[in-house]
This record gives sequence, structure tokens and C-alpha cells, in this order.
Amino acid sequence: MNKMEERSLLDPVSVLNGAGPKRLTALNKLGINTIEDLLTFYPFRYDDLSTKNLDEIADQEKATIKGTVASEPVLARFGRKKSRLNFRFLVGQDVLMVTFFNQPYLASKIETGKEIGVYGKYDVKRQKMTGMKLFSSKANDDFVGVYRSSKDIRPNTIKQFVSQAYEQYSSLIEDVVPRSLRKKYRLLDRKQLIHDMHFPISRSAADLARRSAIFEEFFRYQAGLQFMKVRDQHSNGQIISYDNTLLKKFIAQLPFELTNAQKKVVNEICDDMHHPVHMNRLLQGDVGSGKTVVAALAMYAAVTAGFQCALMAPTEILAEQHAEKLAELFDPLNVNVALLTHSSIGKLAQKRELMTHLADGDIQIVVGTQALIQPDVIFHNLGLVVIDEQHRFGVEQRKLLRMKGTKPDVLAMTATPIPRTLAITSYGEMDVSVIDELPKNRKPVRTQWFSKKQTSEAINFLSQQIASGAQAFIVSPLIDESEMMELQNAQEVYQKMSELFKNKYKVGLLHGQLKTQEKDQVMQDFKNKEYSILVATTVVEVGIDIPNATVMMILDADRFGLAQLHQLRGRVGRGNRQSYCLLVADPKNDYGKARMDTMVQTNDGFLIAQRDLELRGPGEVLGSKQAGMPEFQVGDPVENLNILQIAQQEAYAIISDDDFERKKENTGLINYLRRTILKKPALD
Ligand code: ADP
Ligand code: MG
Repeated sequence: MNKMEERSLLDPVSVLNGAGPKRLTALNKLGINTIEDLLTFYPFRYDDLSTKNLDEIADQEKATIKGTVASEPVLARFGRKKSRLNFRFLVGQDVLMVTFFNQPYLASKIETGKEIGVYGKYDVKRQKMTGMKLFSSKANDDFVGVYRSSKDIRPNTIKQFVSQAYEQYSSLIEDVVPRSLRKKYRLLDRKQLIHDMHFPISRSAADLARRSAIFEEFFRYQAGLQFMKVRDQHSNGQIISYDNTLLKKFIAQLPFELTNAQKKVVNEICDDMHHPVHMNRLLQGDVGSGKTVVAALAMYAAVTAGFQCALMAPTEILAEQHAEKLAELFDPLNVNVALLTHSSIGKLAQKRELMTHLADGDIQIVVGTQALIQPDVIFHNLGLVVIDEQHRFGVEQRKLLRMKGTKPDVLAMTATPIPRTLAITSYGEMDVSVIDELPKNRKPVRTQWFSKKQTSEAINFLSQQIASGAQAFIVSPLIDESEMMELQNAQEVYQKMSELFKNKYKVGLLHGQLKTQEKDQVMQDFKNKEYSILVATTVVEVGIDIPNATVMMILDADRFGLAQLHQLRGRVGRGNRQSYCLLVADPKNDYGKARMDTMVQTNDGFLIAQRDLELRGPGEVLGSKQAGMPEFQVGDPVENLNILQIAQQEAYAIISDDDFERKKENTGLINYLRRTILKKPALD
């Protein structure tokens, strides 16, 4: 075996000449550990150093010119660090003044009569150039990449390492994107693209390399997700042979007709369930689109096939609401529904009884919080797991719940609308069902933005609505830093409102510090219309369903994010009555104003999410780690959405092809998947 064959792109960068301890640390700090890291540490911009004639350069444009030094340089210093270096420069027939700031050491390189090149910003009117780089007129690349660097390592040193690594290792670079795809989309092969990302000969070469690199990056990622998904599906899931007649009967006796979108997703779910595929499905639907009843139908189907189901919700209030609703629905059908939260199983005896009935299968549907994933919760035969507001749970929690059964089907639900971009990147391993329609009788919530000065106007409006039979939420300001202050705030608002509406309307208060029974009581009382107004903290944010509440007033609304505001607004507009959302806010910056404007302009959760993404960037919209949002190096999922979509389709087509592993052109991709996902060595 010769030496070359022992090499690998995963070799540490310390194998390179000149990579001593200090530089090594600096490289590691930049995230560069292996040769592969170095080869994919691409320049973040390129400077065009090809020479231009003066008349080709626009005012204030950066460009390189060549000419002859026409005067001795004059150096002026200001203080210790600042300086200015001036000289006349003959370019063709023109003489212009060149100035370099704070690079006094250049003076020695500038001699009258010498031919040099200067890269800088050109001021046409004044015939001046502010110099940025100076080079002897020979031996220079025209178009050069500039690297992100640090004070411990200079961009040029990085460039030299890249160049050395490329020389020694480029023969090992393997293509992940199959040849046919590269041809179809006119992409460079990996070896060429890496070369041209670092050492392009022109702007267009750099652009092509970048496009190829973005495609490759997205393709790799999507192929990985698809690969996991296919592997998951083939690893025999349960067959849930539900009783279709019973299911149809159940649907017929619901108090409303399902929307077409609901029917469509119920079909998708049922289809997965009675096939031996392992269902891993995300049910996505805007707030109020009716996801709960879809989950109820899926659970009922599983129950008719003799399986148990678990529904996990992020808050106790929500778990209780679900348990109550489901019990009501299922009571006539003799399906047992139980609630399992930390407070509901406070007493030991109570807990034992519940655990026994779960373990022997007497309880068919259990609804709960994270309490469901405690080790002592054991099921008889868990066939379906439903996770409500799934983005509120960590990957680990969702997994623990799944492990309570043997490969139960999974239905995850989210009311946080995920923009298409993020859905593709974060949930590529799940199938997605979308409820893209609200129940018919809904009237869009009308939203109005009041300044703080106009608060009394907003209150008057709220009061009129209550007079005509409505109920209202008033959400007190969000205080990120301290729960205590948030509580104080809520109490203050509560006191003010009680005072204001004394002898007129009753006011309730709901906050996170209340004991569960107390919360319960407050919610129940509000539902029974004992209060007209419920002052609350963000505990009412998710899931709460009280159709008679039709006014949502949010104080200091600019403190909330767009997604949160949309969720809060989703608490109203759930019945036939016209609903209103009143935002009271004096936003301190444009970003806050933009959020208020967006809320007033649209009710469409997807649009709002897209706007949120533009305003904040993907990393923030979903906590990147939790949602599995990868950090892409070259591609930007928002800006390069088209490429992302194509990469996803193509990855899907390739991976789901039965001959995938037999096709020669897929070798590079297979090796990549073996290495990263299966953690196995590459094939030869
Ligand atoms: P979300 O999708 O936000 O979880 P829910 O499941 O809480 O929404 O449903 C919102 C409200 O709409 C509930 O009161 C529910 O009973 C009602 N609902 C659901 N589906 C329909 C339908 N097809 N027609 C009328 N009302 C419906
Ligand atoms: Mg819900």
C-alpha cells in the first residue's frame, strides 16, 4: 500500500506543513479540524483584482488599476496609529492621486517610475483613489477569495493551507451528487467546485462554484433525511387494522361536518396506520383549524384495532382540556380516557390504580403532560402516540414516549406554522399532512393596533363587546427576565380591571404560579361564563379552546414575537361570532412596528411565519438545536429556497428508487450516508 492510499480527507489539519501548535489552535477555533473542513472553508467574498481602464470604472466602484508611480510618496502621521500615504499615479494619459490610510509600511514599496497595481475605491470627480491593496504589477491572481480569519491567523495563511491541502488531497475528493444530476443542473463536480470556490479565475467561475456548492450542501442534507425516513419505514411498523365502519359512524355523529382538509388528513393518517409502515407524520395546521378532532379520530381508529393511545400536551391546562373533550366524545362509545399529569396523580393510591389500568389495557386513551414519560408508566400495547404542540418538546422527550410501545405510530401536531423552508429542512424525515382550511363558519379575527395613549379606546371597545354577550382575554405584558415580575404585572392589570369594571363585569386571573386545581377552576369558571374577562399571562398561549371568548386584548404587544402573537390571537375566532384582537403597544423600533403591522395585515399563519423568518432569521424562529435546524455553510434556506426544493425532490427520487444501492453513480452518496448515518466505513 503506498502512502497516498492511507490518506483520508478526515486527516487532521496538523498533517500539513507549517501547521504548528499556534496555527492549529487558530484553525480549530475557526471550526477547522480535518482536511475536509479546510477544503470546505470557503471564502466569504471575492475581490476583483483584474485591471481596468479608468473609463471603465464607475464612481465609488472598487477596482484594480495599473500604472506608474509619478511622485515620491508623502507620508503623514496622526497620533500613534493613524497615517496617510499620498502619491501621484500615472494611468494611461491620466494622473490621479492615490491615498492609503494606516498602511505606512507601503511607503518603501512606492518609488517614482515604478510600475505597480493598486486595488481601491475610485472617486471619478476628484480623480482620486483610496487604496486598499498594492501589488507589483506582475504575478497576481485577478480574482481572489477572502477568508474569514481571526487575530491569530491571517487570511493569507489560511489560503496557503487550503492550497497545500488541495494539492495533496484533491485526488481523494469524491462526488456525492450523482453525475446525472450534475449534468441535469449544470453543476461542477466536487473536485472542481472546491477548486473554484477557493481559486476561481473570474466572477462567473466563482458564481458557478457557489451554486454547485449550495446544491451539494442541501442535497447531502436532504439525502440523509430521506435515507433515515426510508429506513424507518421499512423497519416494520405495526399494522393497525381499524374498523372502518365504526370510524365512519363516529364521524357521522360529530357535532359538525369535517372540513375537506380534515377529511384529507384523516385519510392520510389512516392509510399509514393500516400499512406496515412506521408512521412518523407531522400534522400541521393553523391555530383553530381543528387538529384535535383529527387526533381523536386517529386514536379512535387505533382503539377499534385493540391498541392503546397516548396524547402528550405541553401544559397541564391543555392536557386537561384535551382529556375533558375526549372523555366527552368517547364516553358514549365505552372508550376509557384517563388524565395523567403530575398534579392529577398526586395521591399515591390514585397513581397506583391508574398505572394498573394502563398496564392491563383497561385504559385505552391516556392524555397527559411529560408525566407520561416517567419510567413507571407502562402500557399494555401502545399503538399510537400523539404529540400536541410538538415543537414544545425536545427530541429526547418525544423519543421516550415512543419507546413506551413497540414502534408505535407517531402523529405529531403543531399549530406553529412552519414556513415551507423550515419544514423542508427540519422535518424532512417526517411526512407532513397539512390542514389548509378553517371550518366554514369562521370569520377572520379583526385586528387593531392601539398606541398606549389609546388604551381607554381599546377598553371601551372591549366593554361594548362584553355588553353584547362576549367574553374577553386580557394578556398582561410578557416579562422575559422574571416570572415574578410577570406575575406582579398580571396582578396589577387584574386589580385595575376589577376596579374599572366593578359592579359591572366579573374579572378572573390566571397565571403560571397557581396550583393546577386553581388554574382548572379559573378556566372552568371562565368557560361557564362566571367571568366576563380573564386576565392572564402567556399560560393561555397554546391550545386553549373557549369559543365564546371573542376578544383578545394584548398589552405591550410589542414584547411578544410574531409566532406568539399569532398563537394568542388564535384563542379567539373559534366560534360563529365576529372576534377581535386588540394590540396595545408603543413599539420602540422598526422591527416592533413591523410585527404590529404584520398582525394587522394578515391572519394567515403561514404568511406570518414567513414574515417572522425574514425579520428574525431561521436560527431564531425555531430554536435551531431543538428543531434540528442545521447550520448550512454556503446555502441559505430562505434565499436559496428554490435550490433547496429541487435538492429535496431529487434526493427523494434517488433514495426511494429500489435500485438505489446498486447504481454505480450513487457510490459517493452511499459512502457519504454510510459514513455519516450508519457510521460504517465506505464501500470500495
Ligand atoms: P387547533 O387546530 O388550534 O388545535 P382545535 O382542534 O382546538 O384547533 O379546534 C378549534 C375549534 O374548532 C374547536 O372548538 C373544535 O371543536 C372546532 N372544530 C374543529 N373542526 C371543526 C369543523 N370541521 N367544523 C366546525 N368546528 C370545528
Ligand atoms: Mg390544538
